[in-house]
Amino acid sequence: MDQDTGETPTPNAGKIAACWARVRTRLRQEVGDVEYRNWLRQMSLAGVEGEALLVHLPTRFLRDWVRDHYGDRLRMLCQAEMPGIRLVELRVQATSRAVQPVLEDEVEEVSSLAESLAPTPAPLAEPVRNDWLVPLDQRFTFDSFVVGKPNEFAHACARRVAERPAQAGFNPLFLYGGVGLGKTHLMHAIAWSLREQDPGLSVAYMSAEKFMYRFIAALRSHNTMEFKTQLRSVHVLMVDDLQFLIGKDNTQEEFFHTFNALIDAGKQIIISADKAPNDLSGIEDRLRTRLSGGIVADLHATTYELRLSILQSKANISGVEVPPRVQELLARKIASNVRDLEGALNRIVAHAKLFGRPITLESVPEVLSDILRAHDKRLSIDDIQRKVAEHYNIRLTEMASARRARAVARPRQVAMYLAKQLTSRSLPEIGRRFGNRDHTTVLHAVNKITELMAEDPSFAEDVTLLRKMLEM
Ligand code: ADP
Ligand code: MG
Repeated sequence: MDQDTGETPTPNAGKIAACWARVRTRLRQEVGDVEYRNWLRQMSLAGVEGEALLVHLPTRFLRDWVRDHYGDRLRMLCQAEMPGIRLVELRVQATSRAVQPVLEDEVEEVSSLAESLAPTPAPLAEPVRNDWLVPLDQRFTFDSFVVGKPNEFAHACARRVAERPAQAGFNPLFLYGGVGLGKTHLMHAIAWSLREQDPGLSVAYMSAEKFMYRFIAALRSHNTMEFKTQLRSVHVLMVDDLQFLIGKDNTQEEFFHTFNALIDAGKQIIISADKAPNDLSGIEDRLRTRLSGGIVADLHATTYELRLSILQSKANISGVEVPPRVQELLARKIASNVRDLEGALNRIVAHAKLFGRPITLESVPEVLSDILRAHDKRLSIDDIQRKVAEHYNIRLTEMASARRARAVARPRQVAMYLAKQLTSRSLPEIGRRFGNRDHTTVLHAVNKITELMAEDPSFAEDVTLLRKMLEM
């Protein structure tokens, strides 16, 4: 298989080839068939240069992977088998063998882009049949993901995993955050990027619900063996919305084993959920521990700035002119999440296209009246207490407690001040909500905070920031 590569001819090429075959066999025994087939099978011996054994791999991606994960072992085995060889040099060179296909999808689910990225592969000796891939959304790429403070860490982690999957410290990647903040977008972006780098890589993306559904179907048809084998043959497994596995004991158990098998085989796992592993109640501790074993990155609630950049970017893509004032209005009013923001923008763009009228500050409230009304909900004292407690890192119960220590009394005063500024509640009403305090206590708090803000610019900035966050 390797004699025709035209590299350095060596007098004992036959002997080297035999040694190489033994090295491959050893590796195969050490790592197991599945892993061998996934990563190592495509190595081909290209010759000897001085003290280096030259080995080809078909893509840069595979080359890097083999170097990072098996490089040392490969060198040691070669040194042991072949006297005179001290190094193994891995090079990228396409071989005549067809690259491995991406996992084939259920026919009805194949998206056209997925097809264009992965031309119909030649049949393989050991085809990797797959039912796992849901179509990737063409819009969810790194290019279209707008980065800002609330998501920069999650984005950086996603990029990193897309560049170098299965690196220690980044496996598993656990992304979490509220709905509509970009978890699915980032996962698809990683998948697109991996496929682009190496169409031979099998990347399985599925929702936790789908995982469960498949597993139950396999149980019913007594086909769990096939389920396991298929799932364990992928290079990268992504499971979206893991919270759906909560309370589903059988499925969780199966997921746990799959997870372990893949991590142990050096595969990359990417998980998303609505909460951090520690806050996901209803999952087993051993799974929780494994989920936190790599990197955990959260997508925070959006800020006004991020919402504005996202609107700018999406307005550009839509090709319809959206005046800056309208963008500002939307960014200010629709603070819940990016999905809602996008929905509002889509609606006004569709409206403008349909009626051939420009988008103006006057037309928008009409077109979006229901959406804007829903988002115009009044700020409650509860909201204020929660936000302030969170900001100063104290317990919510301290808002109503009798404790007078500065560390809790000051935040409590800030919350009273903000309640006075931001709601239409009277002083006695506010007092009642803060552990039945007297209205004079509230008045004192309002005066005290006003005073402190005048004296201390950094304190003033802090309170102003809180106020802005609450008003958004
Ligand atoms: P989640 O999975 O966290 O519920 P999604 O990834 O489905 O959220 O995101 C919801 C919508 O918002 C998608 O259309 C997505 O493209 C968009 N979106 C979210 N975050 C961003 C961002 N930072 N830049 C551009 N679009 C975003
Ligand atoms: Mg999602």
